[in-house]
Amino acid sequence: MTTATLTRRVSGGRTASDGVLAVECRGVTKEFGNGDTKTLALRGVDLDARPGEMTLLVGPSGCGKTTLISIIAGLLNPSGGEVNVLGTRLDKLSGSRLVKFRAANIGFVFQQYNLLPALTAAENAAVPLVIAGEYKSAAVKRAAEVLESVDLGERTQARPSQLSGGQQQRVAIARALIHQPRLLVCDEPTAALDAQSGQTVMQLLRRVALDPKRAVIVVTHDNRIFQYGNRVVSMSDGRVVDERQQLVADVAQLDHVA
Ligand code: ADP
Repeated sequence: MTTATLTRRVSGGRTASDGVLAVECRGVTKEFGNGDTKTLALRGVDLDARPGEMTLLVGPSGCGKTTLISIIAGLLNPSGGEVNVLGTRLDKLSGSRLVKFRAANIGFVFQQYNLLPALTAAENAAVPLVIAGEYKSAAVKRAAEVLESVDLGERTQARPSQLSGGQQQRVAIARALIHQPRLLVCDEPTAALDAQSGQTVMQLLRRVALDPKRAVIVVTHDNRIFQYGNRVVSMSDGRVVDERQQLVADVAQLDHVA
């Protein structure tokens, strides 16, 4: 079965613009450089992501995963194709409209947590709200609530150096969730963590994806965590080459994250 057939079968004809799909990419291409240095990082990618689901994007290093999620997160412009996110054509937005859309709708989690060392966990998680113009006291109060929901309620006053890698990644997830984005995009969120901390972070992301209004996309090549995805999309050499839906066993026992 081709990727296009699979995509049609799993999406049932629904689109991001009718609010059922969170992300709908069609024929997305990306070139870097030109002439002799030209790299075709994406060669026509179709990808769907649905709210209430975690989509894992897997494949060998250099196959285009980071390029694709950077385009979906509005951090990079595609060279061609359509990128529909939450009913908005990102490939047609630029400048301040793209920045505004991203700030309102998308959370991003990186492999390295990128926390500010001088700030407490609550202050770090509050940063996006402060940048958006919220009073610091209100932002930090809200951050403490989100830290509670990622099981760090006891560590709101800790600085990054006082936290383990897994705890720092959970602060970074709280920071990405603080403005209640409808799309959370994570690039290798467990790559810097030991096995146990990686499992904890993935269980947390599973809870995040239980919100029926929120889609989660996770890039990984860590096969220890493949079990957590509702869908696993495999890439190779700039293309989607396989896509499968899978049952995730533990969902019924989990509460979603605020
Ligand atoms: P992955 O995340 O799967 O490891 P990437 O999306 O990072 O893959 O890279 C896909 C291809 O695009 C690779 O060949 C990489 O070298 C190239 N590439 C990525 N970013 C750039 C860039 N800014 N400039 C030039 N080439 C790039």
